[in-house]
Amino acid sequence: MGSATILPLQVVIVGAGIAGLTAAVACAEKGFSVRLLESTAKFSHLGAGLMISANASRVLCGMGLREQLDKCGIHMKRVVFKKFDDGTVLDERVYGNIEAELGGPNWQIHRADLHDVLLQKAQDLGLIISMGAKVSKYDPENPSVVLEDGEFVQGDVILVADGYRSRAREEILGKYMEPRFSGNSAYRSIIHRSKFENDSELSELMKTENQTTYVWVGEGCHILGYPIRRGEYFNVVSTQPAIRTTGPNYVVPVTAAEFHDRYAHWDPLLEKILSKLPEQNVLEWKLCDLEPLNTWLFPGGKIVLIGDASHAMLPSAAQGAGMGIEDGAAIAELLARIENRSQIPAVLKAFQKLRLPRCTEVVDSGRQNAKKWHNKDAKGGTVTDDIWDYDVVAAARQITLEI
Ligand SMILES: Cc1cc2nc3c(=O)[nH]c(=O)nc-3n(C[C@H](O)[C@H](O)[C@H](O)COP(=O)(O)OP(=O)(O)OC[C@H]3O[C@@H](n4cnc5c(N)ncnc54)[C@H](O)[C@@H]3O)c2cc1C
Repeated sequence: MGSATILPLQVVIVGAGIAGLTAAVACAEKGFSVRLLESTAKFSHLGAGLMISANASRVLCGMGLREQLDKCGIHMKRVVFKKFDDGTVLDERVYGNIEAELGGPNWQIHRADLHDVLLQKAQDLGLIISMGAKVSKYDPENPSVVLEDGEFVQGDVILVADGYRSRAREEILGKYMEPRFSGNSAYRSIIHRSKFENDSELSELMKTENQTTYVWVGEGCHILGYPIRRGEYFNVVSTQPAIRTTGPNYVVPVTAAEFHDRYAHWDPLLEKILSKLPEQNVLEWKLCDLEPLNTWLFPGGKIVLIGDASHAMLPSAAQGAGMGIEDGAAIAELLARIENRSQIPAVLKAFQKLRLPRCTEVVDSGRQNAKKWHNKDAKGGTVTDDIWDYDVVAAARQITLEI
């Protein structure tokens, strides 16, 4: 089926992270009226570099964001895997024609820049974005939410993108479910290019043309390094057994020395990079993912989880934001296919049918990559590249709606 006229749906979205904002923009572009509810009073811009691969970048390009994202993102052209101790090159992948082959670039980008671009687009489209609007209750039958301050907000459909520690998940499962702790954490920081200026080997890393991402692998850990913000910063993120995040803390500041000393015996180039870490803004992140949920749908079928709330994954998949972006595009495409509101539960069912297997596969790839890279005799390589060749909009247009 396919309707010539799109129903003027009221879409309420909980959470204005990458998944919530993408869904908001995609829904507004279909002509739906959108209200976004975000619990924080002001965006914190926590986070650092992300890879946004072709499967997700093609969605963002389709939203007309190519030019803005090219201003802050760098096209990843090459990945070099290095042996942890002596820096021997183990594997090299060149992605010269990726855009022609897969329909979008692989961007290396700061999460805050991606978020800003999506937020600006949402504002340009005139969406209502309520800040400091924390949802505390859901009514699945008469799809609506109540905010902490008592405000009642109703919609035809509610998309919940409240992140990996989702409280909404509790409503579906009947109990709160902590994400699965992998046992590992990530140290994450960005280094300003001025720190690399007087060293030719380090300056070389900041090249934005034919940009190279380095991945050091082996000995139960791995580290990625790549430039972001058009070569203004070098992003560095490691994964190792957790130290300060084994308990209830999810993000903890650590010292530059702690990060550096942990890897002082690794490849001299890496050691040199880490010796330039800033004193502030080095954070340890607890690394978690989710076992596949049986359902992402609230009873009644008019409220659904999207983004990390339903399929949080390890950074070694480099796809958490990517899957949230795919979710946003898919749900808007599916909602645009219906002719009356009674068909919303069928759309959300189709959404889950399309997205759950895809996201389960990607969550698993994150676990597999980490396992592959943490072997003392790791050879590099990834199980993730096949994931990039996916057109979520085409998939959402093809899936049958069981109406
Ligand atoms: C070290 C590291 C590296 C990563 N690298 C990559 C990468 O290379 N590529 C990639 O694609 N992904 C990567 N990711 C993952 C990516 O950052 C996340 O998957 C993505 O940001 C999740 O987006 P989200 O919108 O689902 O959730 P979030 O960004 O967590 O957003 C949830 C939003 O909901 C709001 N909220 C929560 N509760 C409520 C409530 N009750 N009411 C209203 N609002 C609420 C929150 O304030 C927040 O704004 C990485 C993650 C880490 C930790």
